[in-house]
Amino acid sequence: MSLHGKTAIITGSTSGIGLGIARELARAGADVVLNSFSDSPEDHAAARDIAAEYGVTARYIQADMSKGEEARALVERAGVCDILVNNAGIQHVCAIEDFPAAKWDAIIAINMSSAFHTTAVALPLMRKAGWGRVINIASAHGLTASPYKSAYVTAKHGMVGFTKVTALETAREPITANAICPGYVLTPLVEAQIPDTMAKYGMGREEVIEKVLLERQPSKEFATVGQLGQTAVFLCSDAAAQITGTTISVDGGWTAL
Ligand code: NAD
Repeated sequence: MSLHGKTAIITGSTSGIGLGIARELARAGADVVLNSFSDSPEDHAAARDIAAEYGVTARYIQADMSKGEEARALVERAGVCDILVNNAGIQHVCAIEDFPAAKWDAIIAINMSSAFHTTAVALPLMRKAGWGRVINIASAHGLTASPYKSAYVTAKHGMVGFTKVTALETAREPITANAICPGYVLTPLVEAQIPDTMAKYGMGREEVIEKVLLERQPSKEFATVGQLGQTAVFLCSDAAAQITGTTISVDGGWTAL
């Protein structure tokens, strides 16, 4: 399928899942807007690489998704948004009684509230264009919980709820809103959890991956960023025009348990 002529904004897309989704949307012909908070030479290089590889227009726009006005400014600066992928996210693992309040606030802001702000600005642009796709990257933790991830699980459940409301408010229009719920994907976000988990359980890297990270993923395999990107491309296809307000799990069977 071709997404030629469509523009996609992907929040938090200079690494991991966001970059994987940006690459697959570009491979399908969409122009893409990459985003992160850092504004490093590597961020701009990621956009240049996509433009060179897929022959699309790829821009990098710096905006901190922890700040509502910057999330809104990202979409305003892009000026066009046919496909909005709310992907930016961070993690912090800690018991509720010790969970730093600042971390709670940051996770709720980046992983959940930023989607409200970007969507609020994107929907009028989609209506003007007469077509739109909102794709929210939630998680298996948007459907189920784990201990020590209170802010993350709360934000991801919120993301699923926000997806349903977005779908209902756009149900009579050629706009859909869905959430993709990945299980574990080996990205920098997950890599960062491995050393602490190794120390906590006195395990080696492979043992942590098999017995801790993939414990609840029956396939015992990580999902890949390419598979998530292809799921996003499918949600942009005509075949998915009546799929709205739902979640698509890409989790190796986690939520079937
Ligand atoms: P990652 O750490 O590789 O990438 C996160 C991206 O978000 C980076 O580009 C980073 O620059 C950006 N980002 C972080 N804070 C930001 C901010 N304040 N403003 C703008 N951008 C910011 O992480 P990932 O694993 O690719 O995760 C992407 C999304 O997928 C997250 O929402 C995460 O919760 C979700 N997810 C990941 C997994 C997994 O196993 N990796 C599983 C389920 C859901």
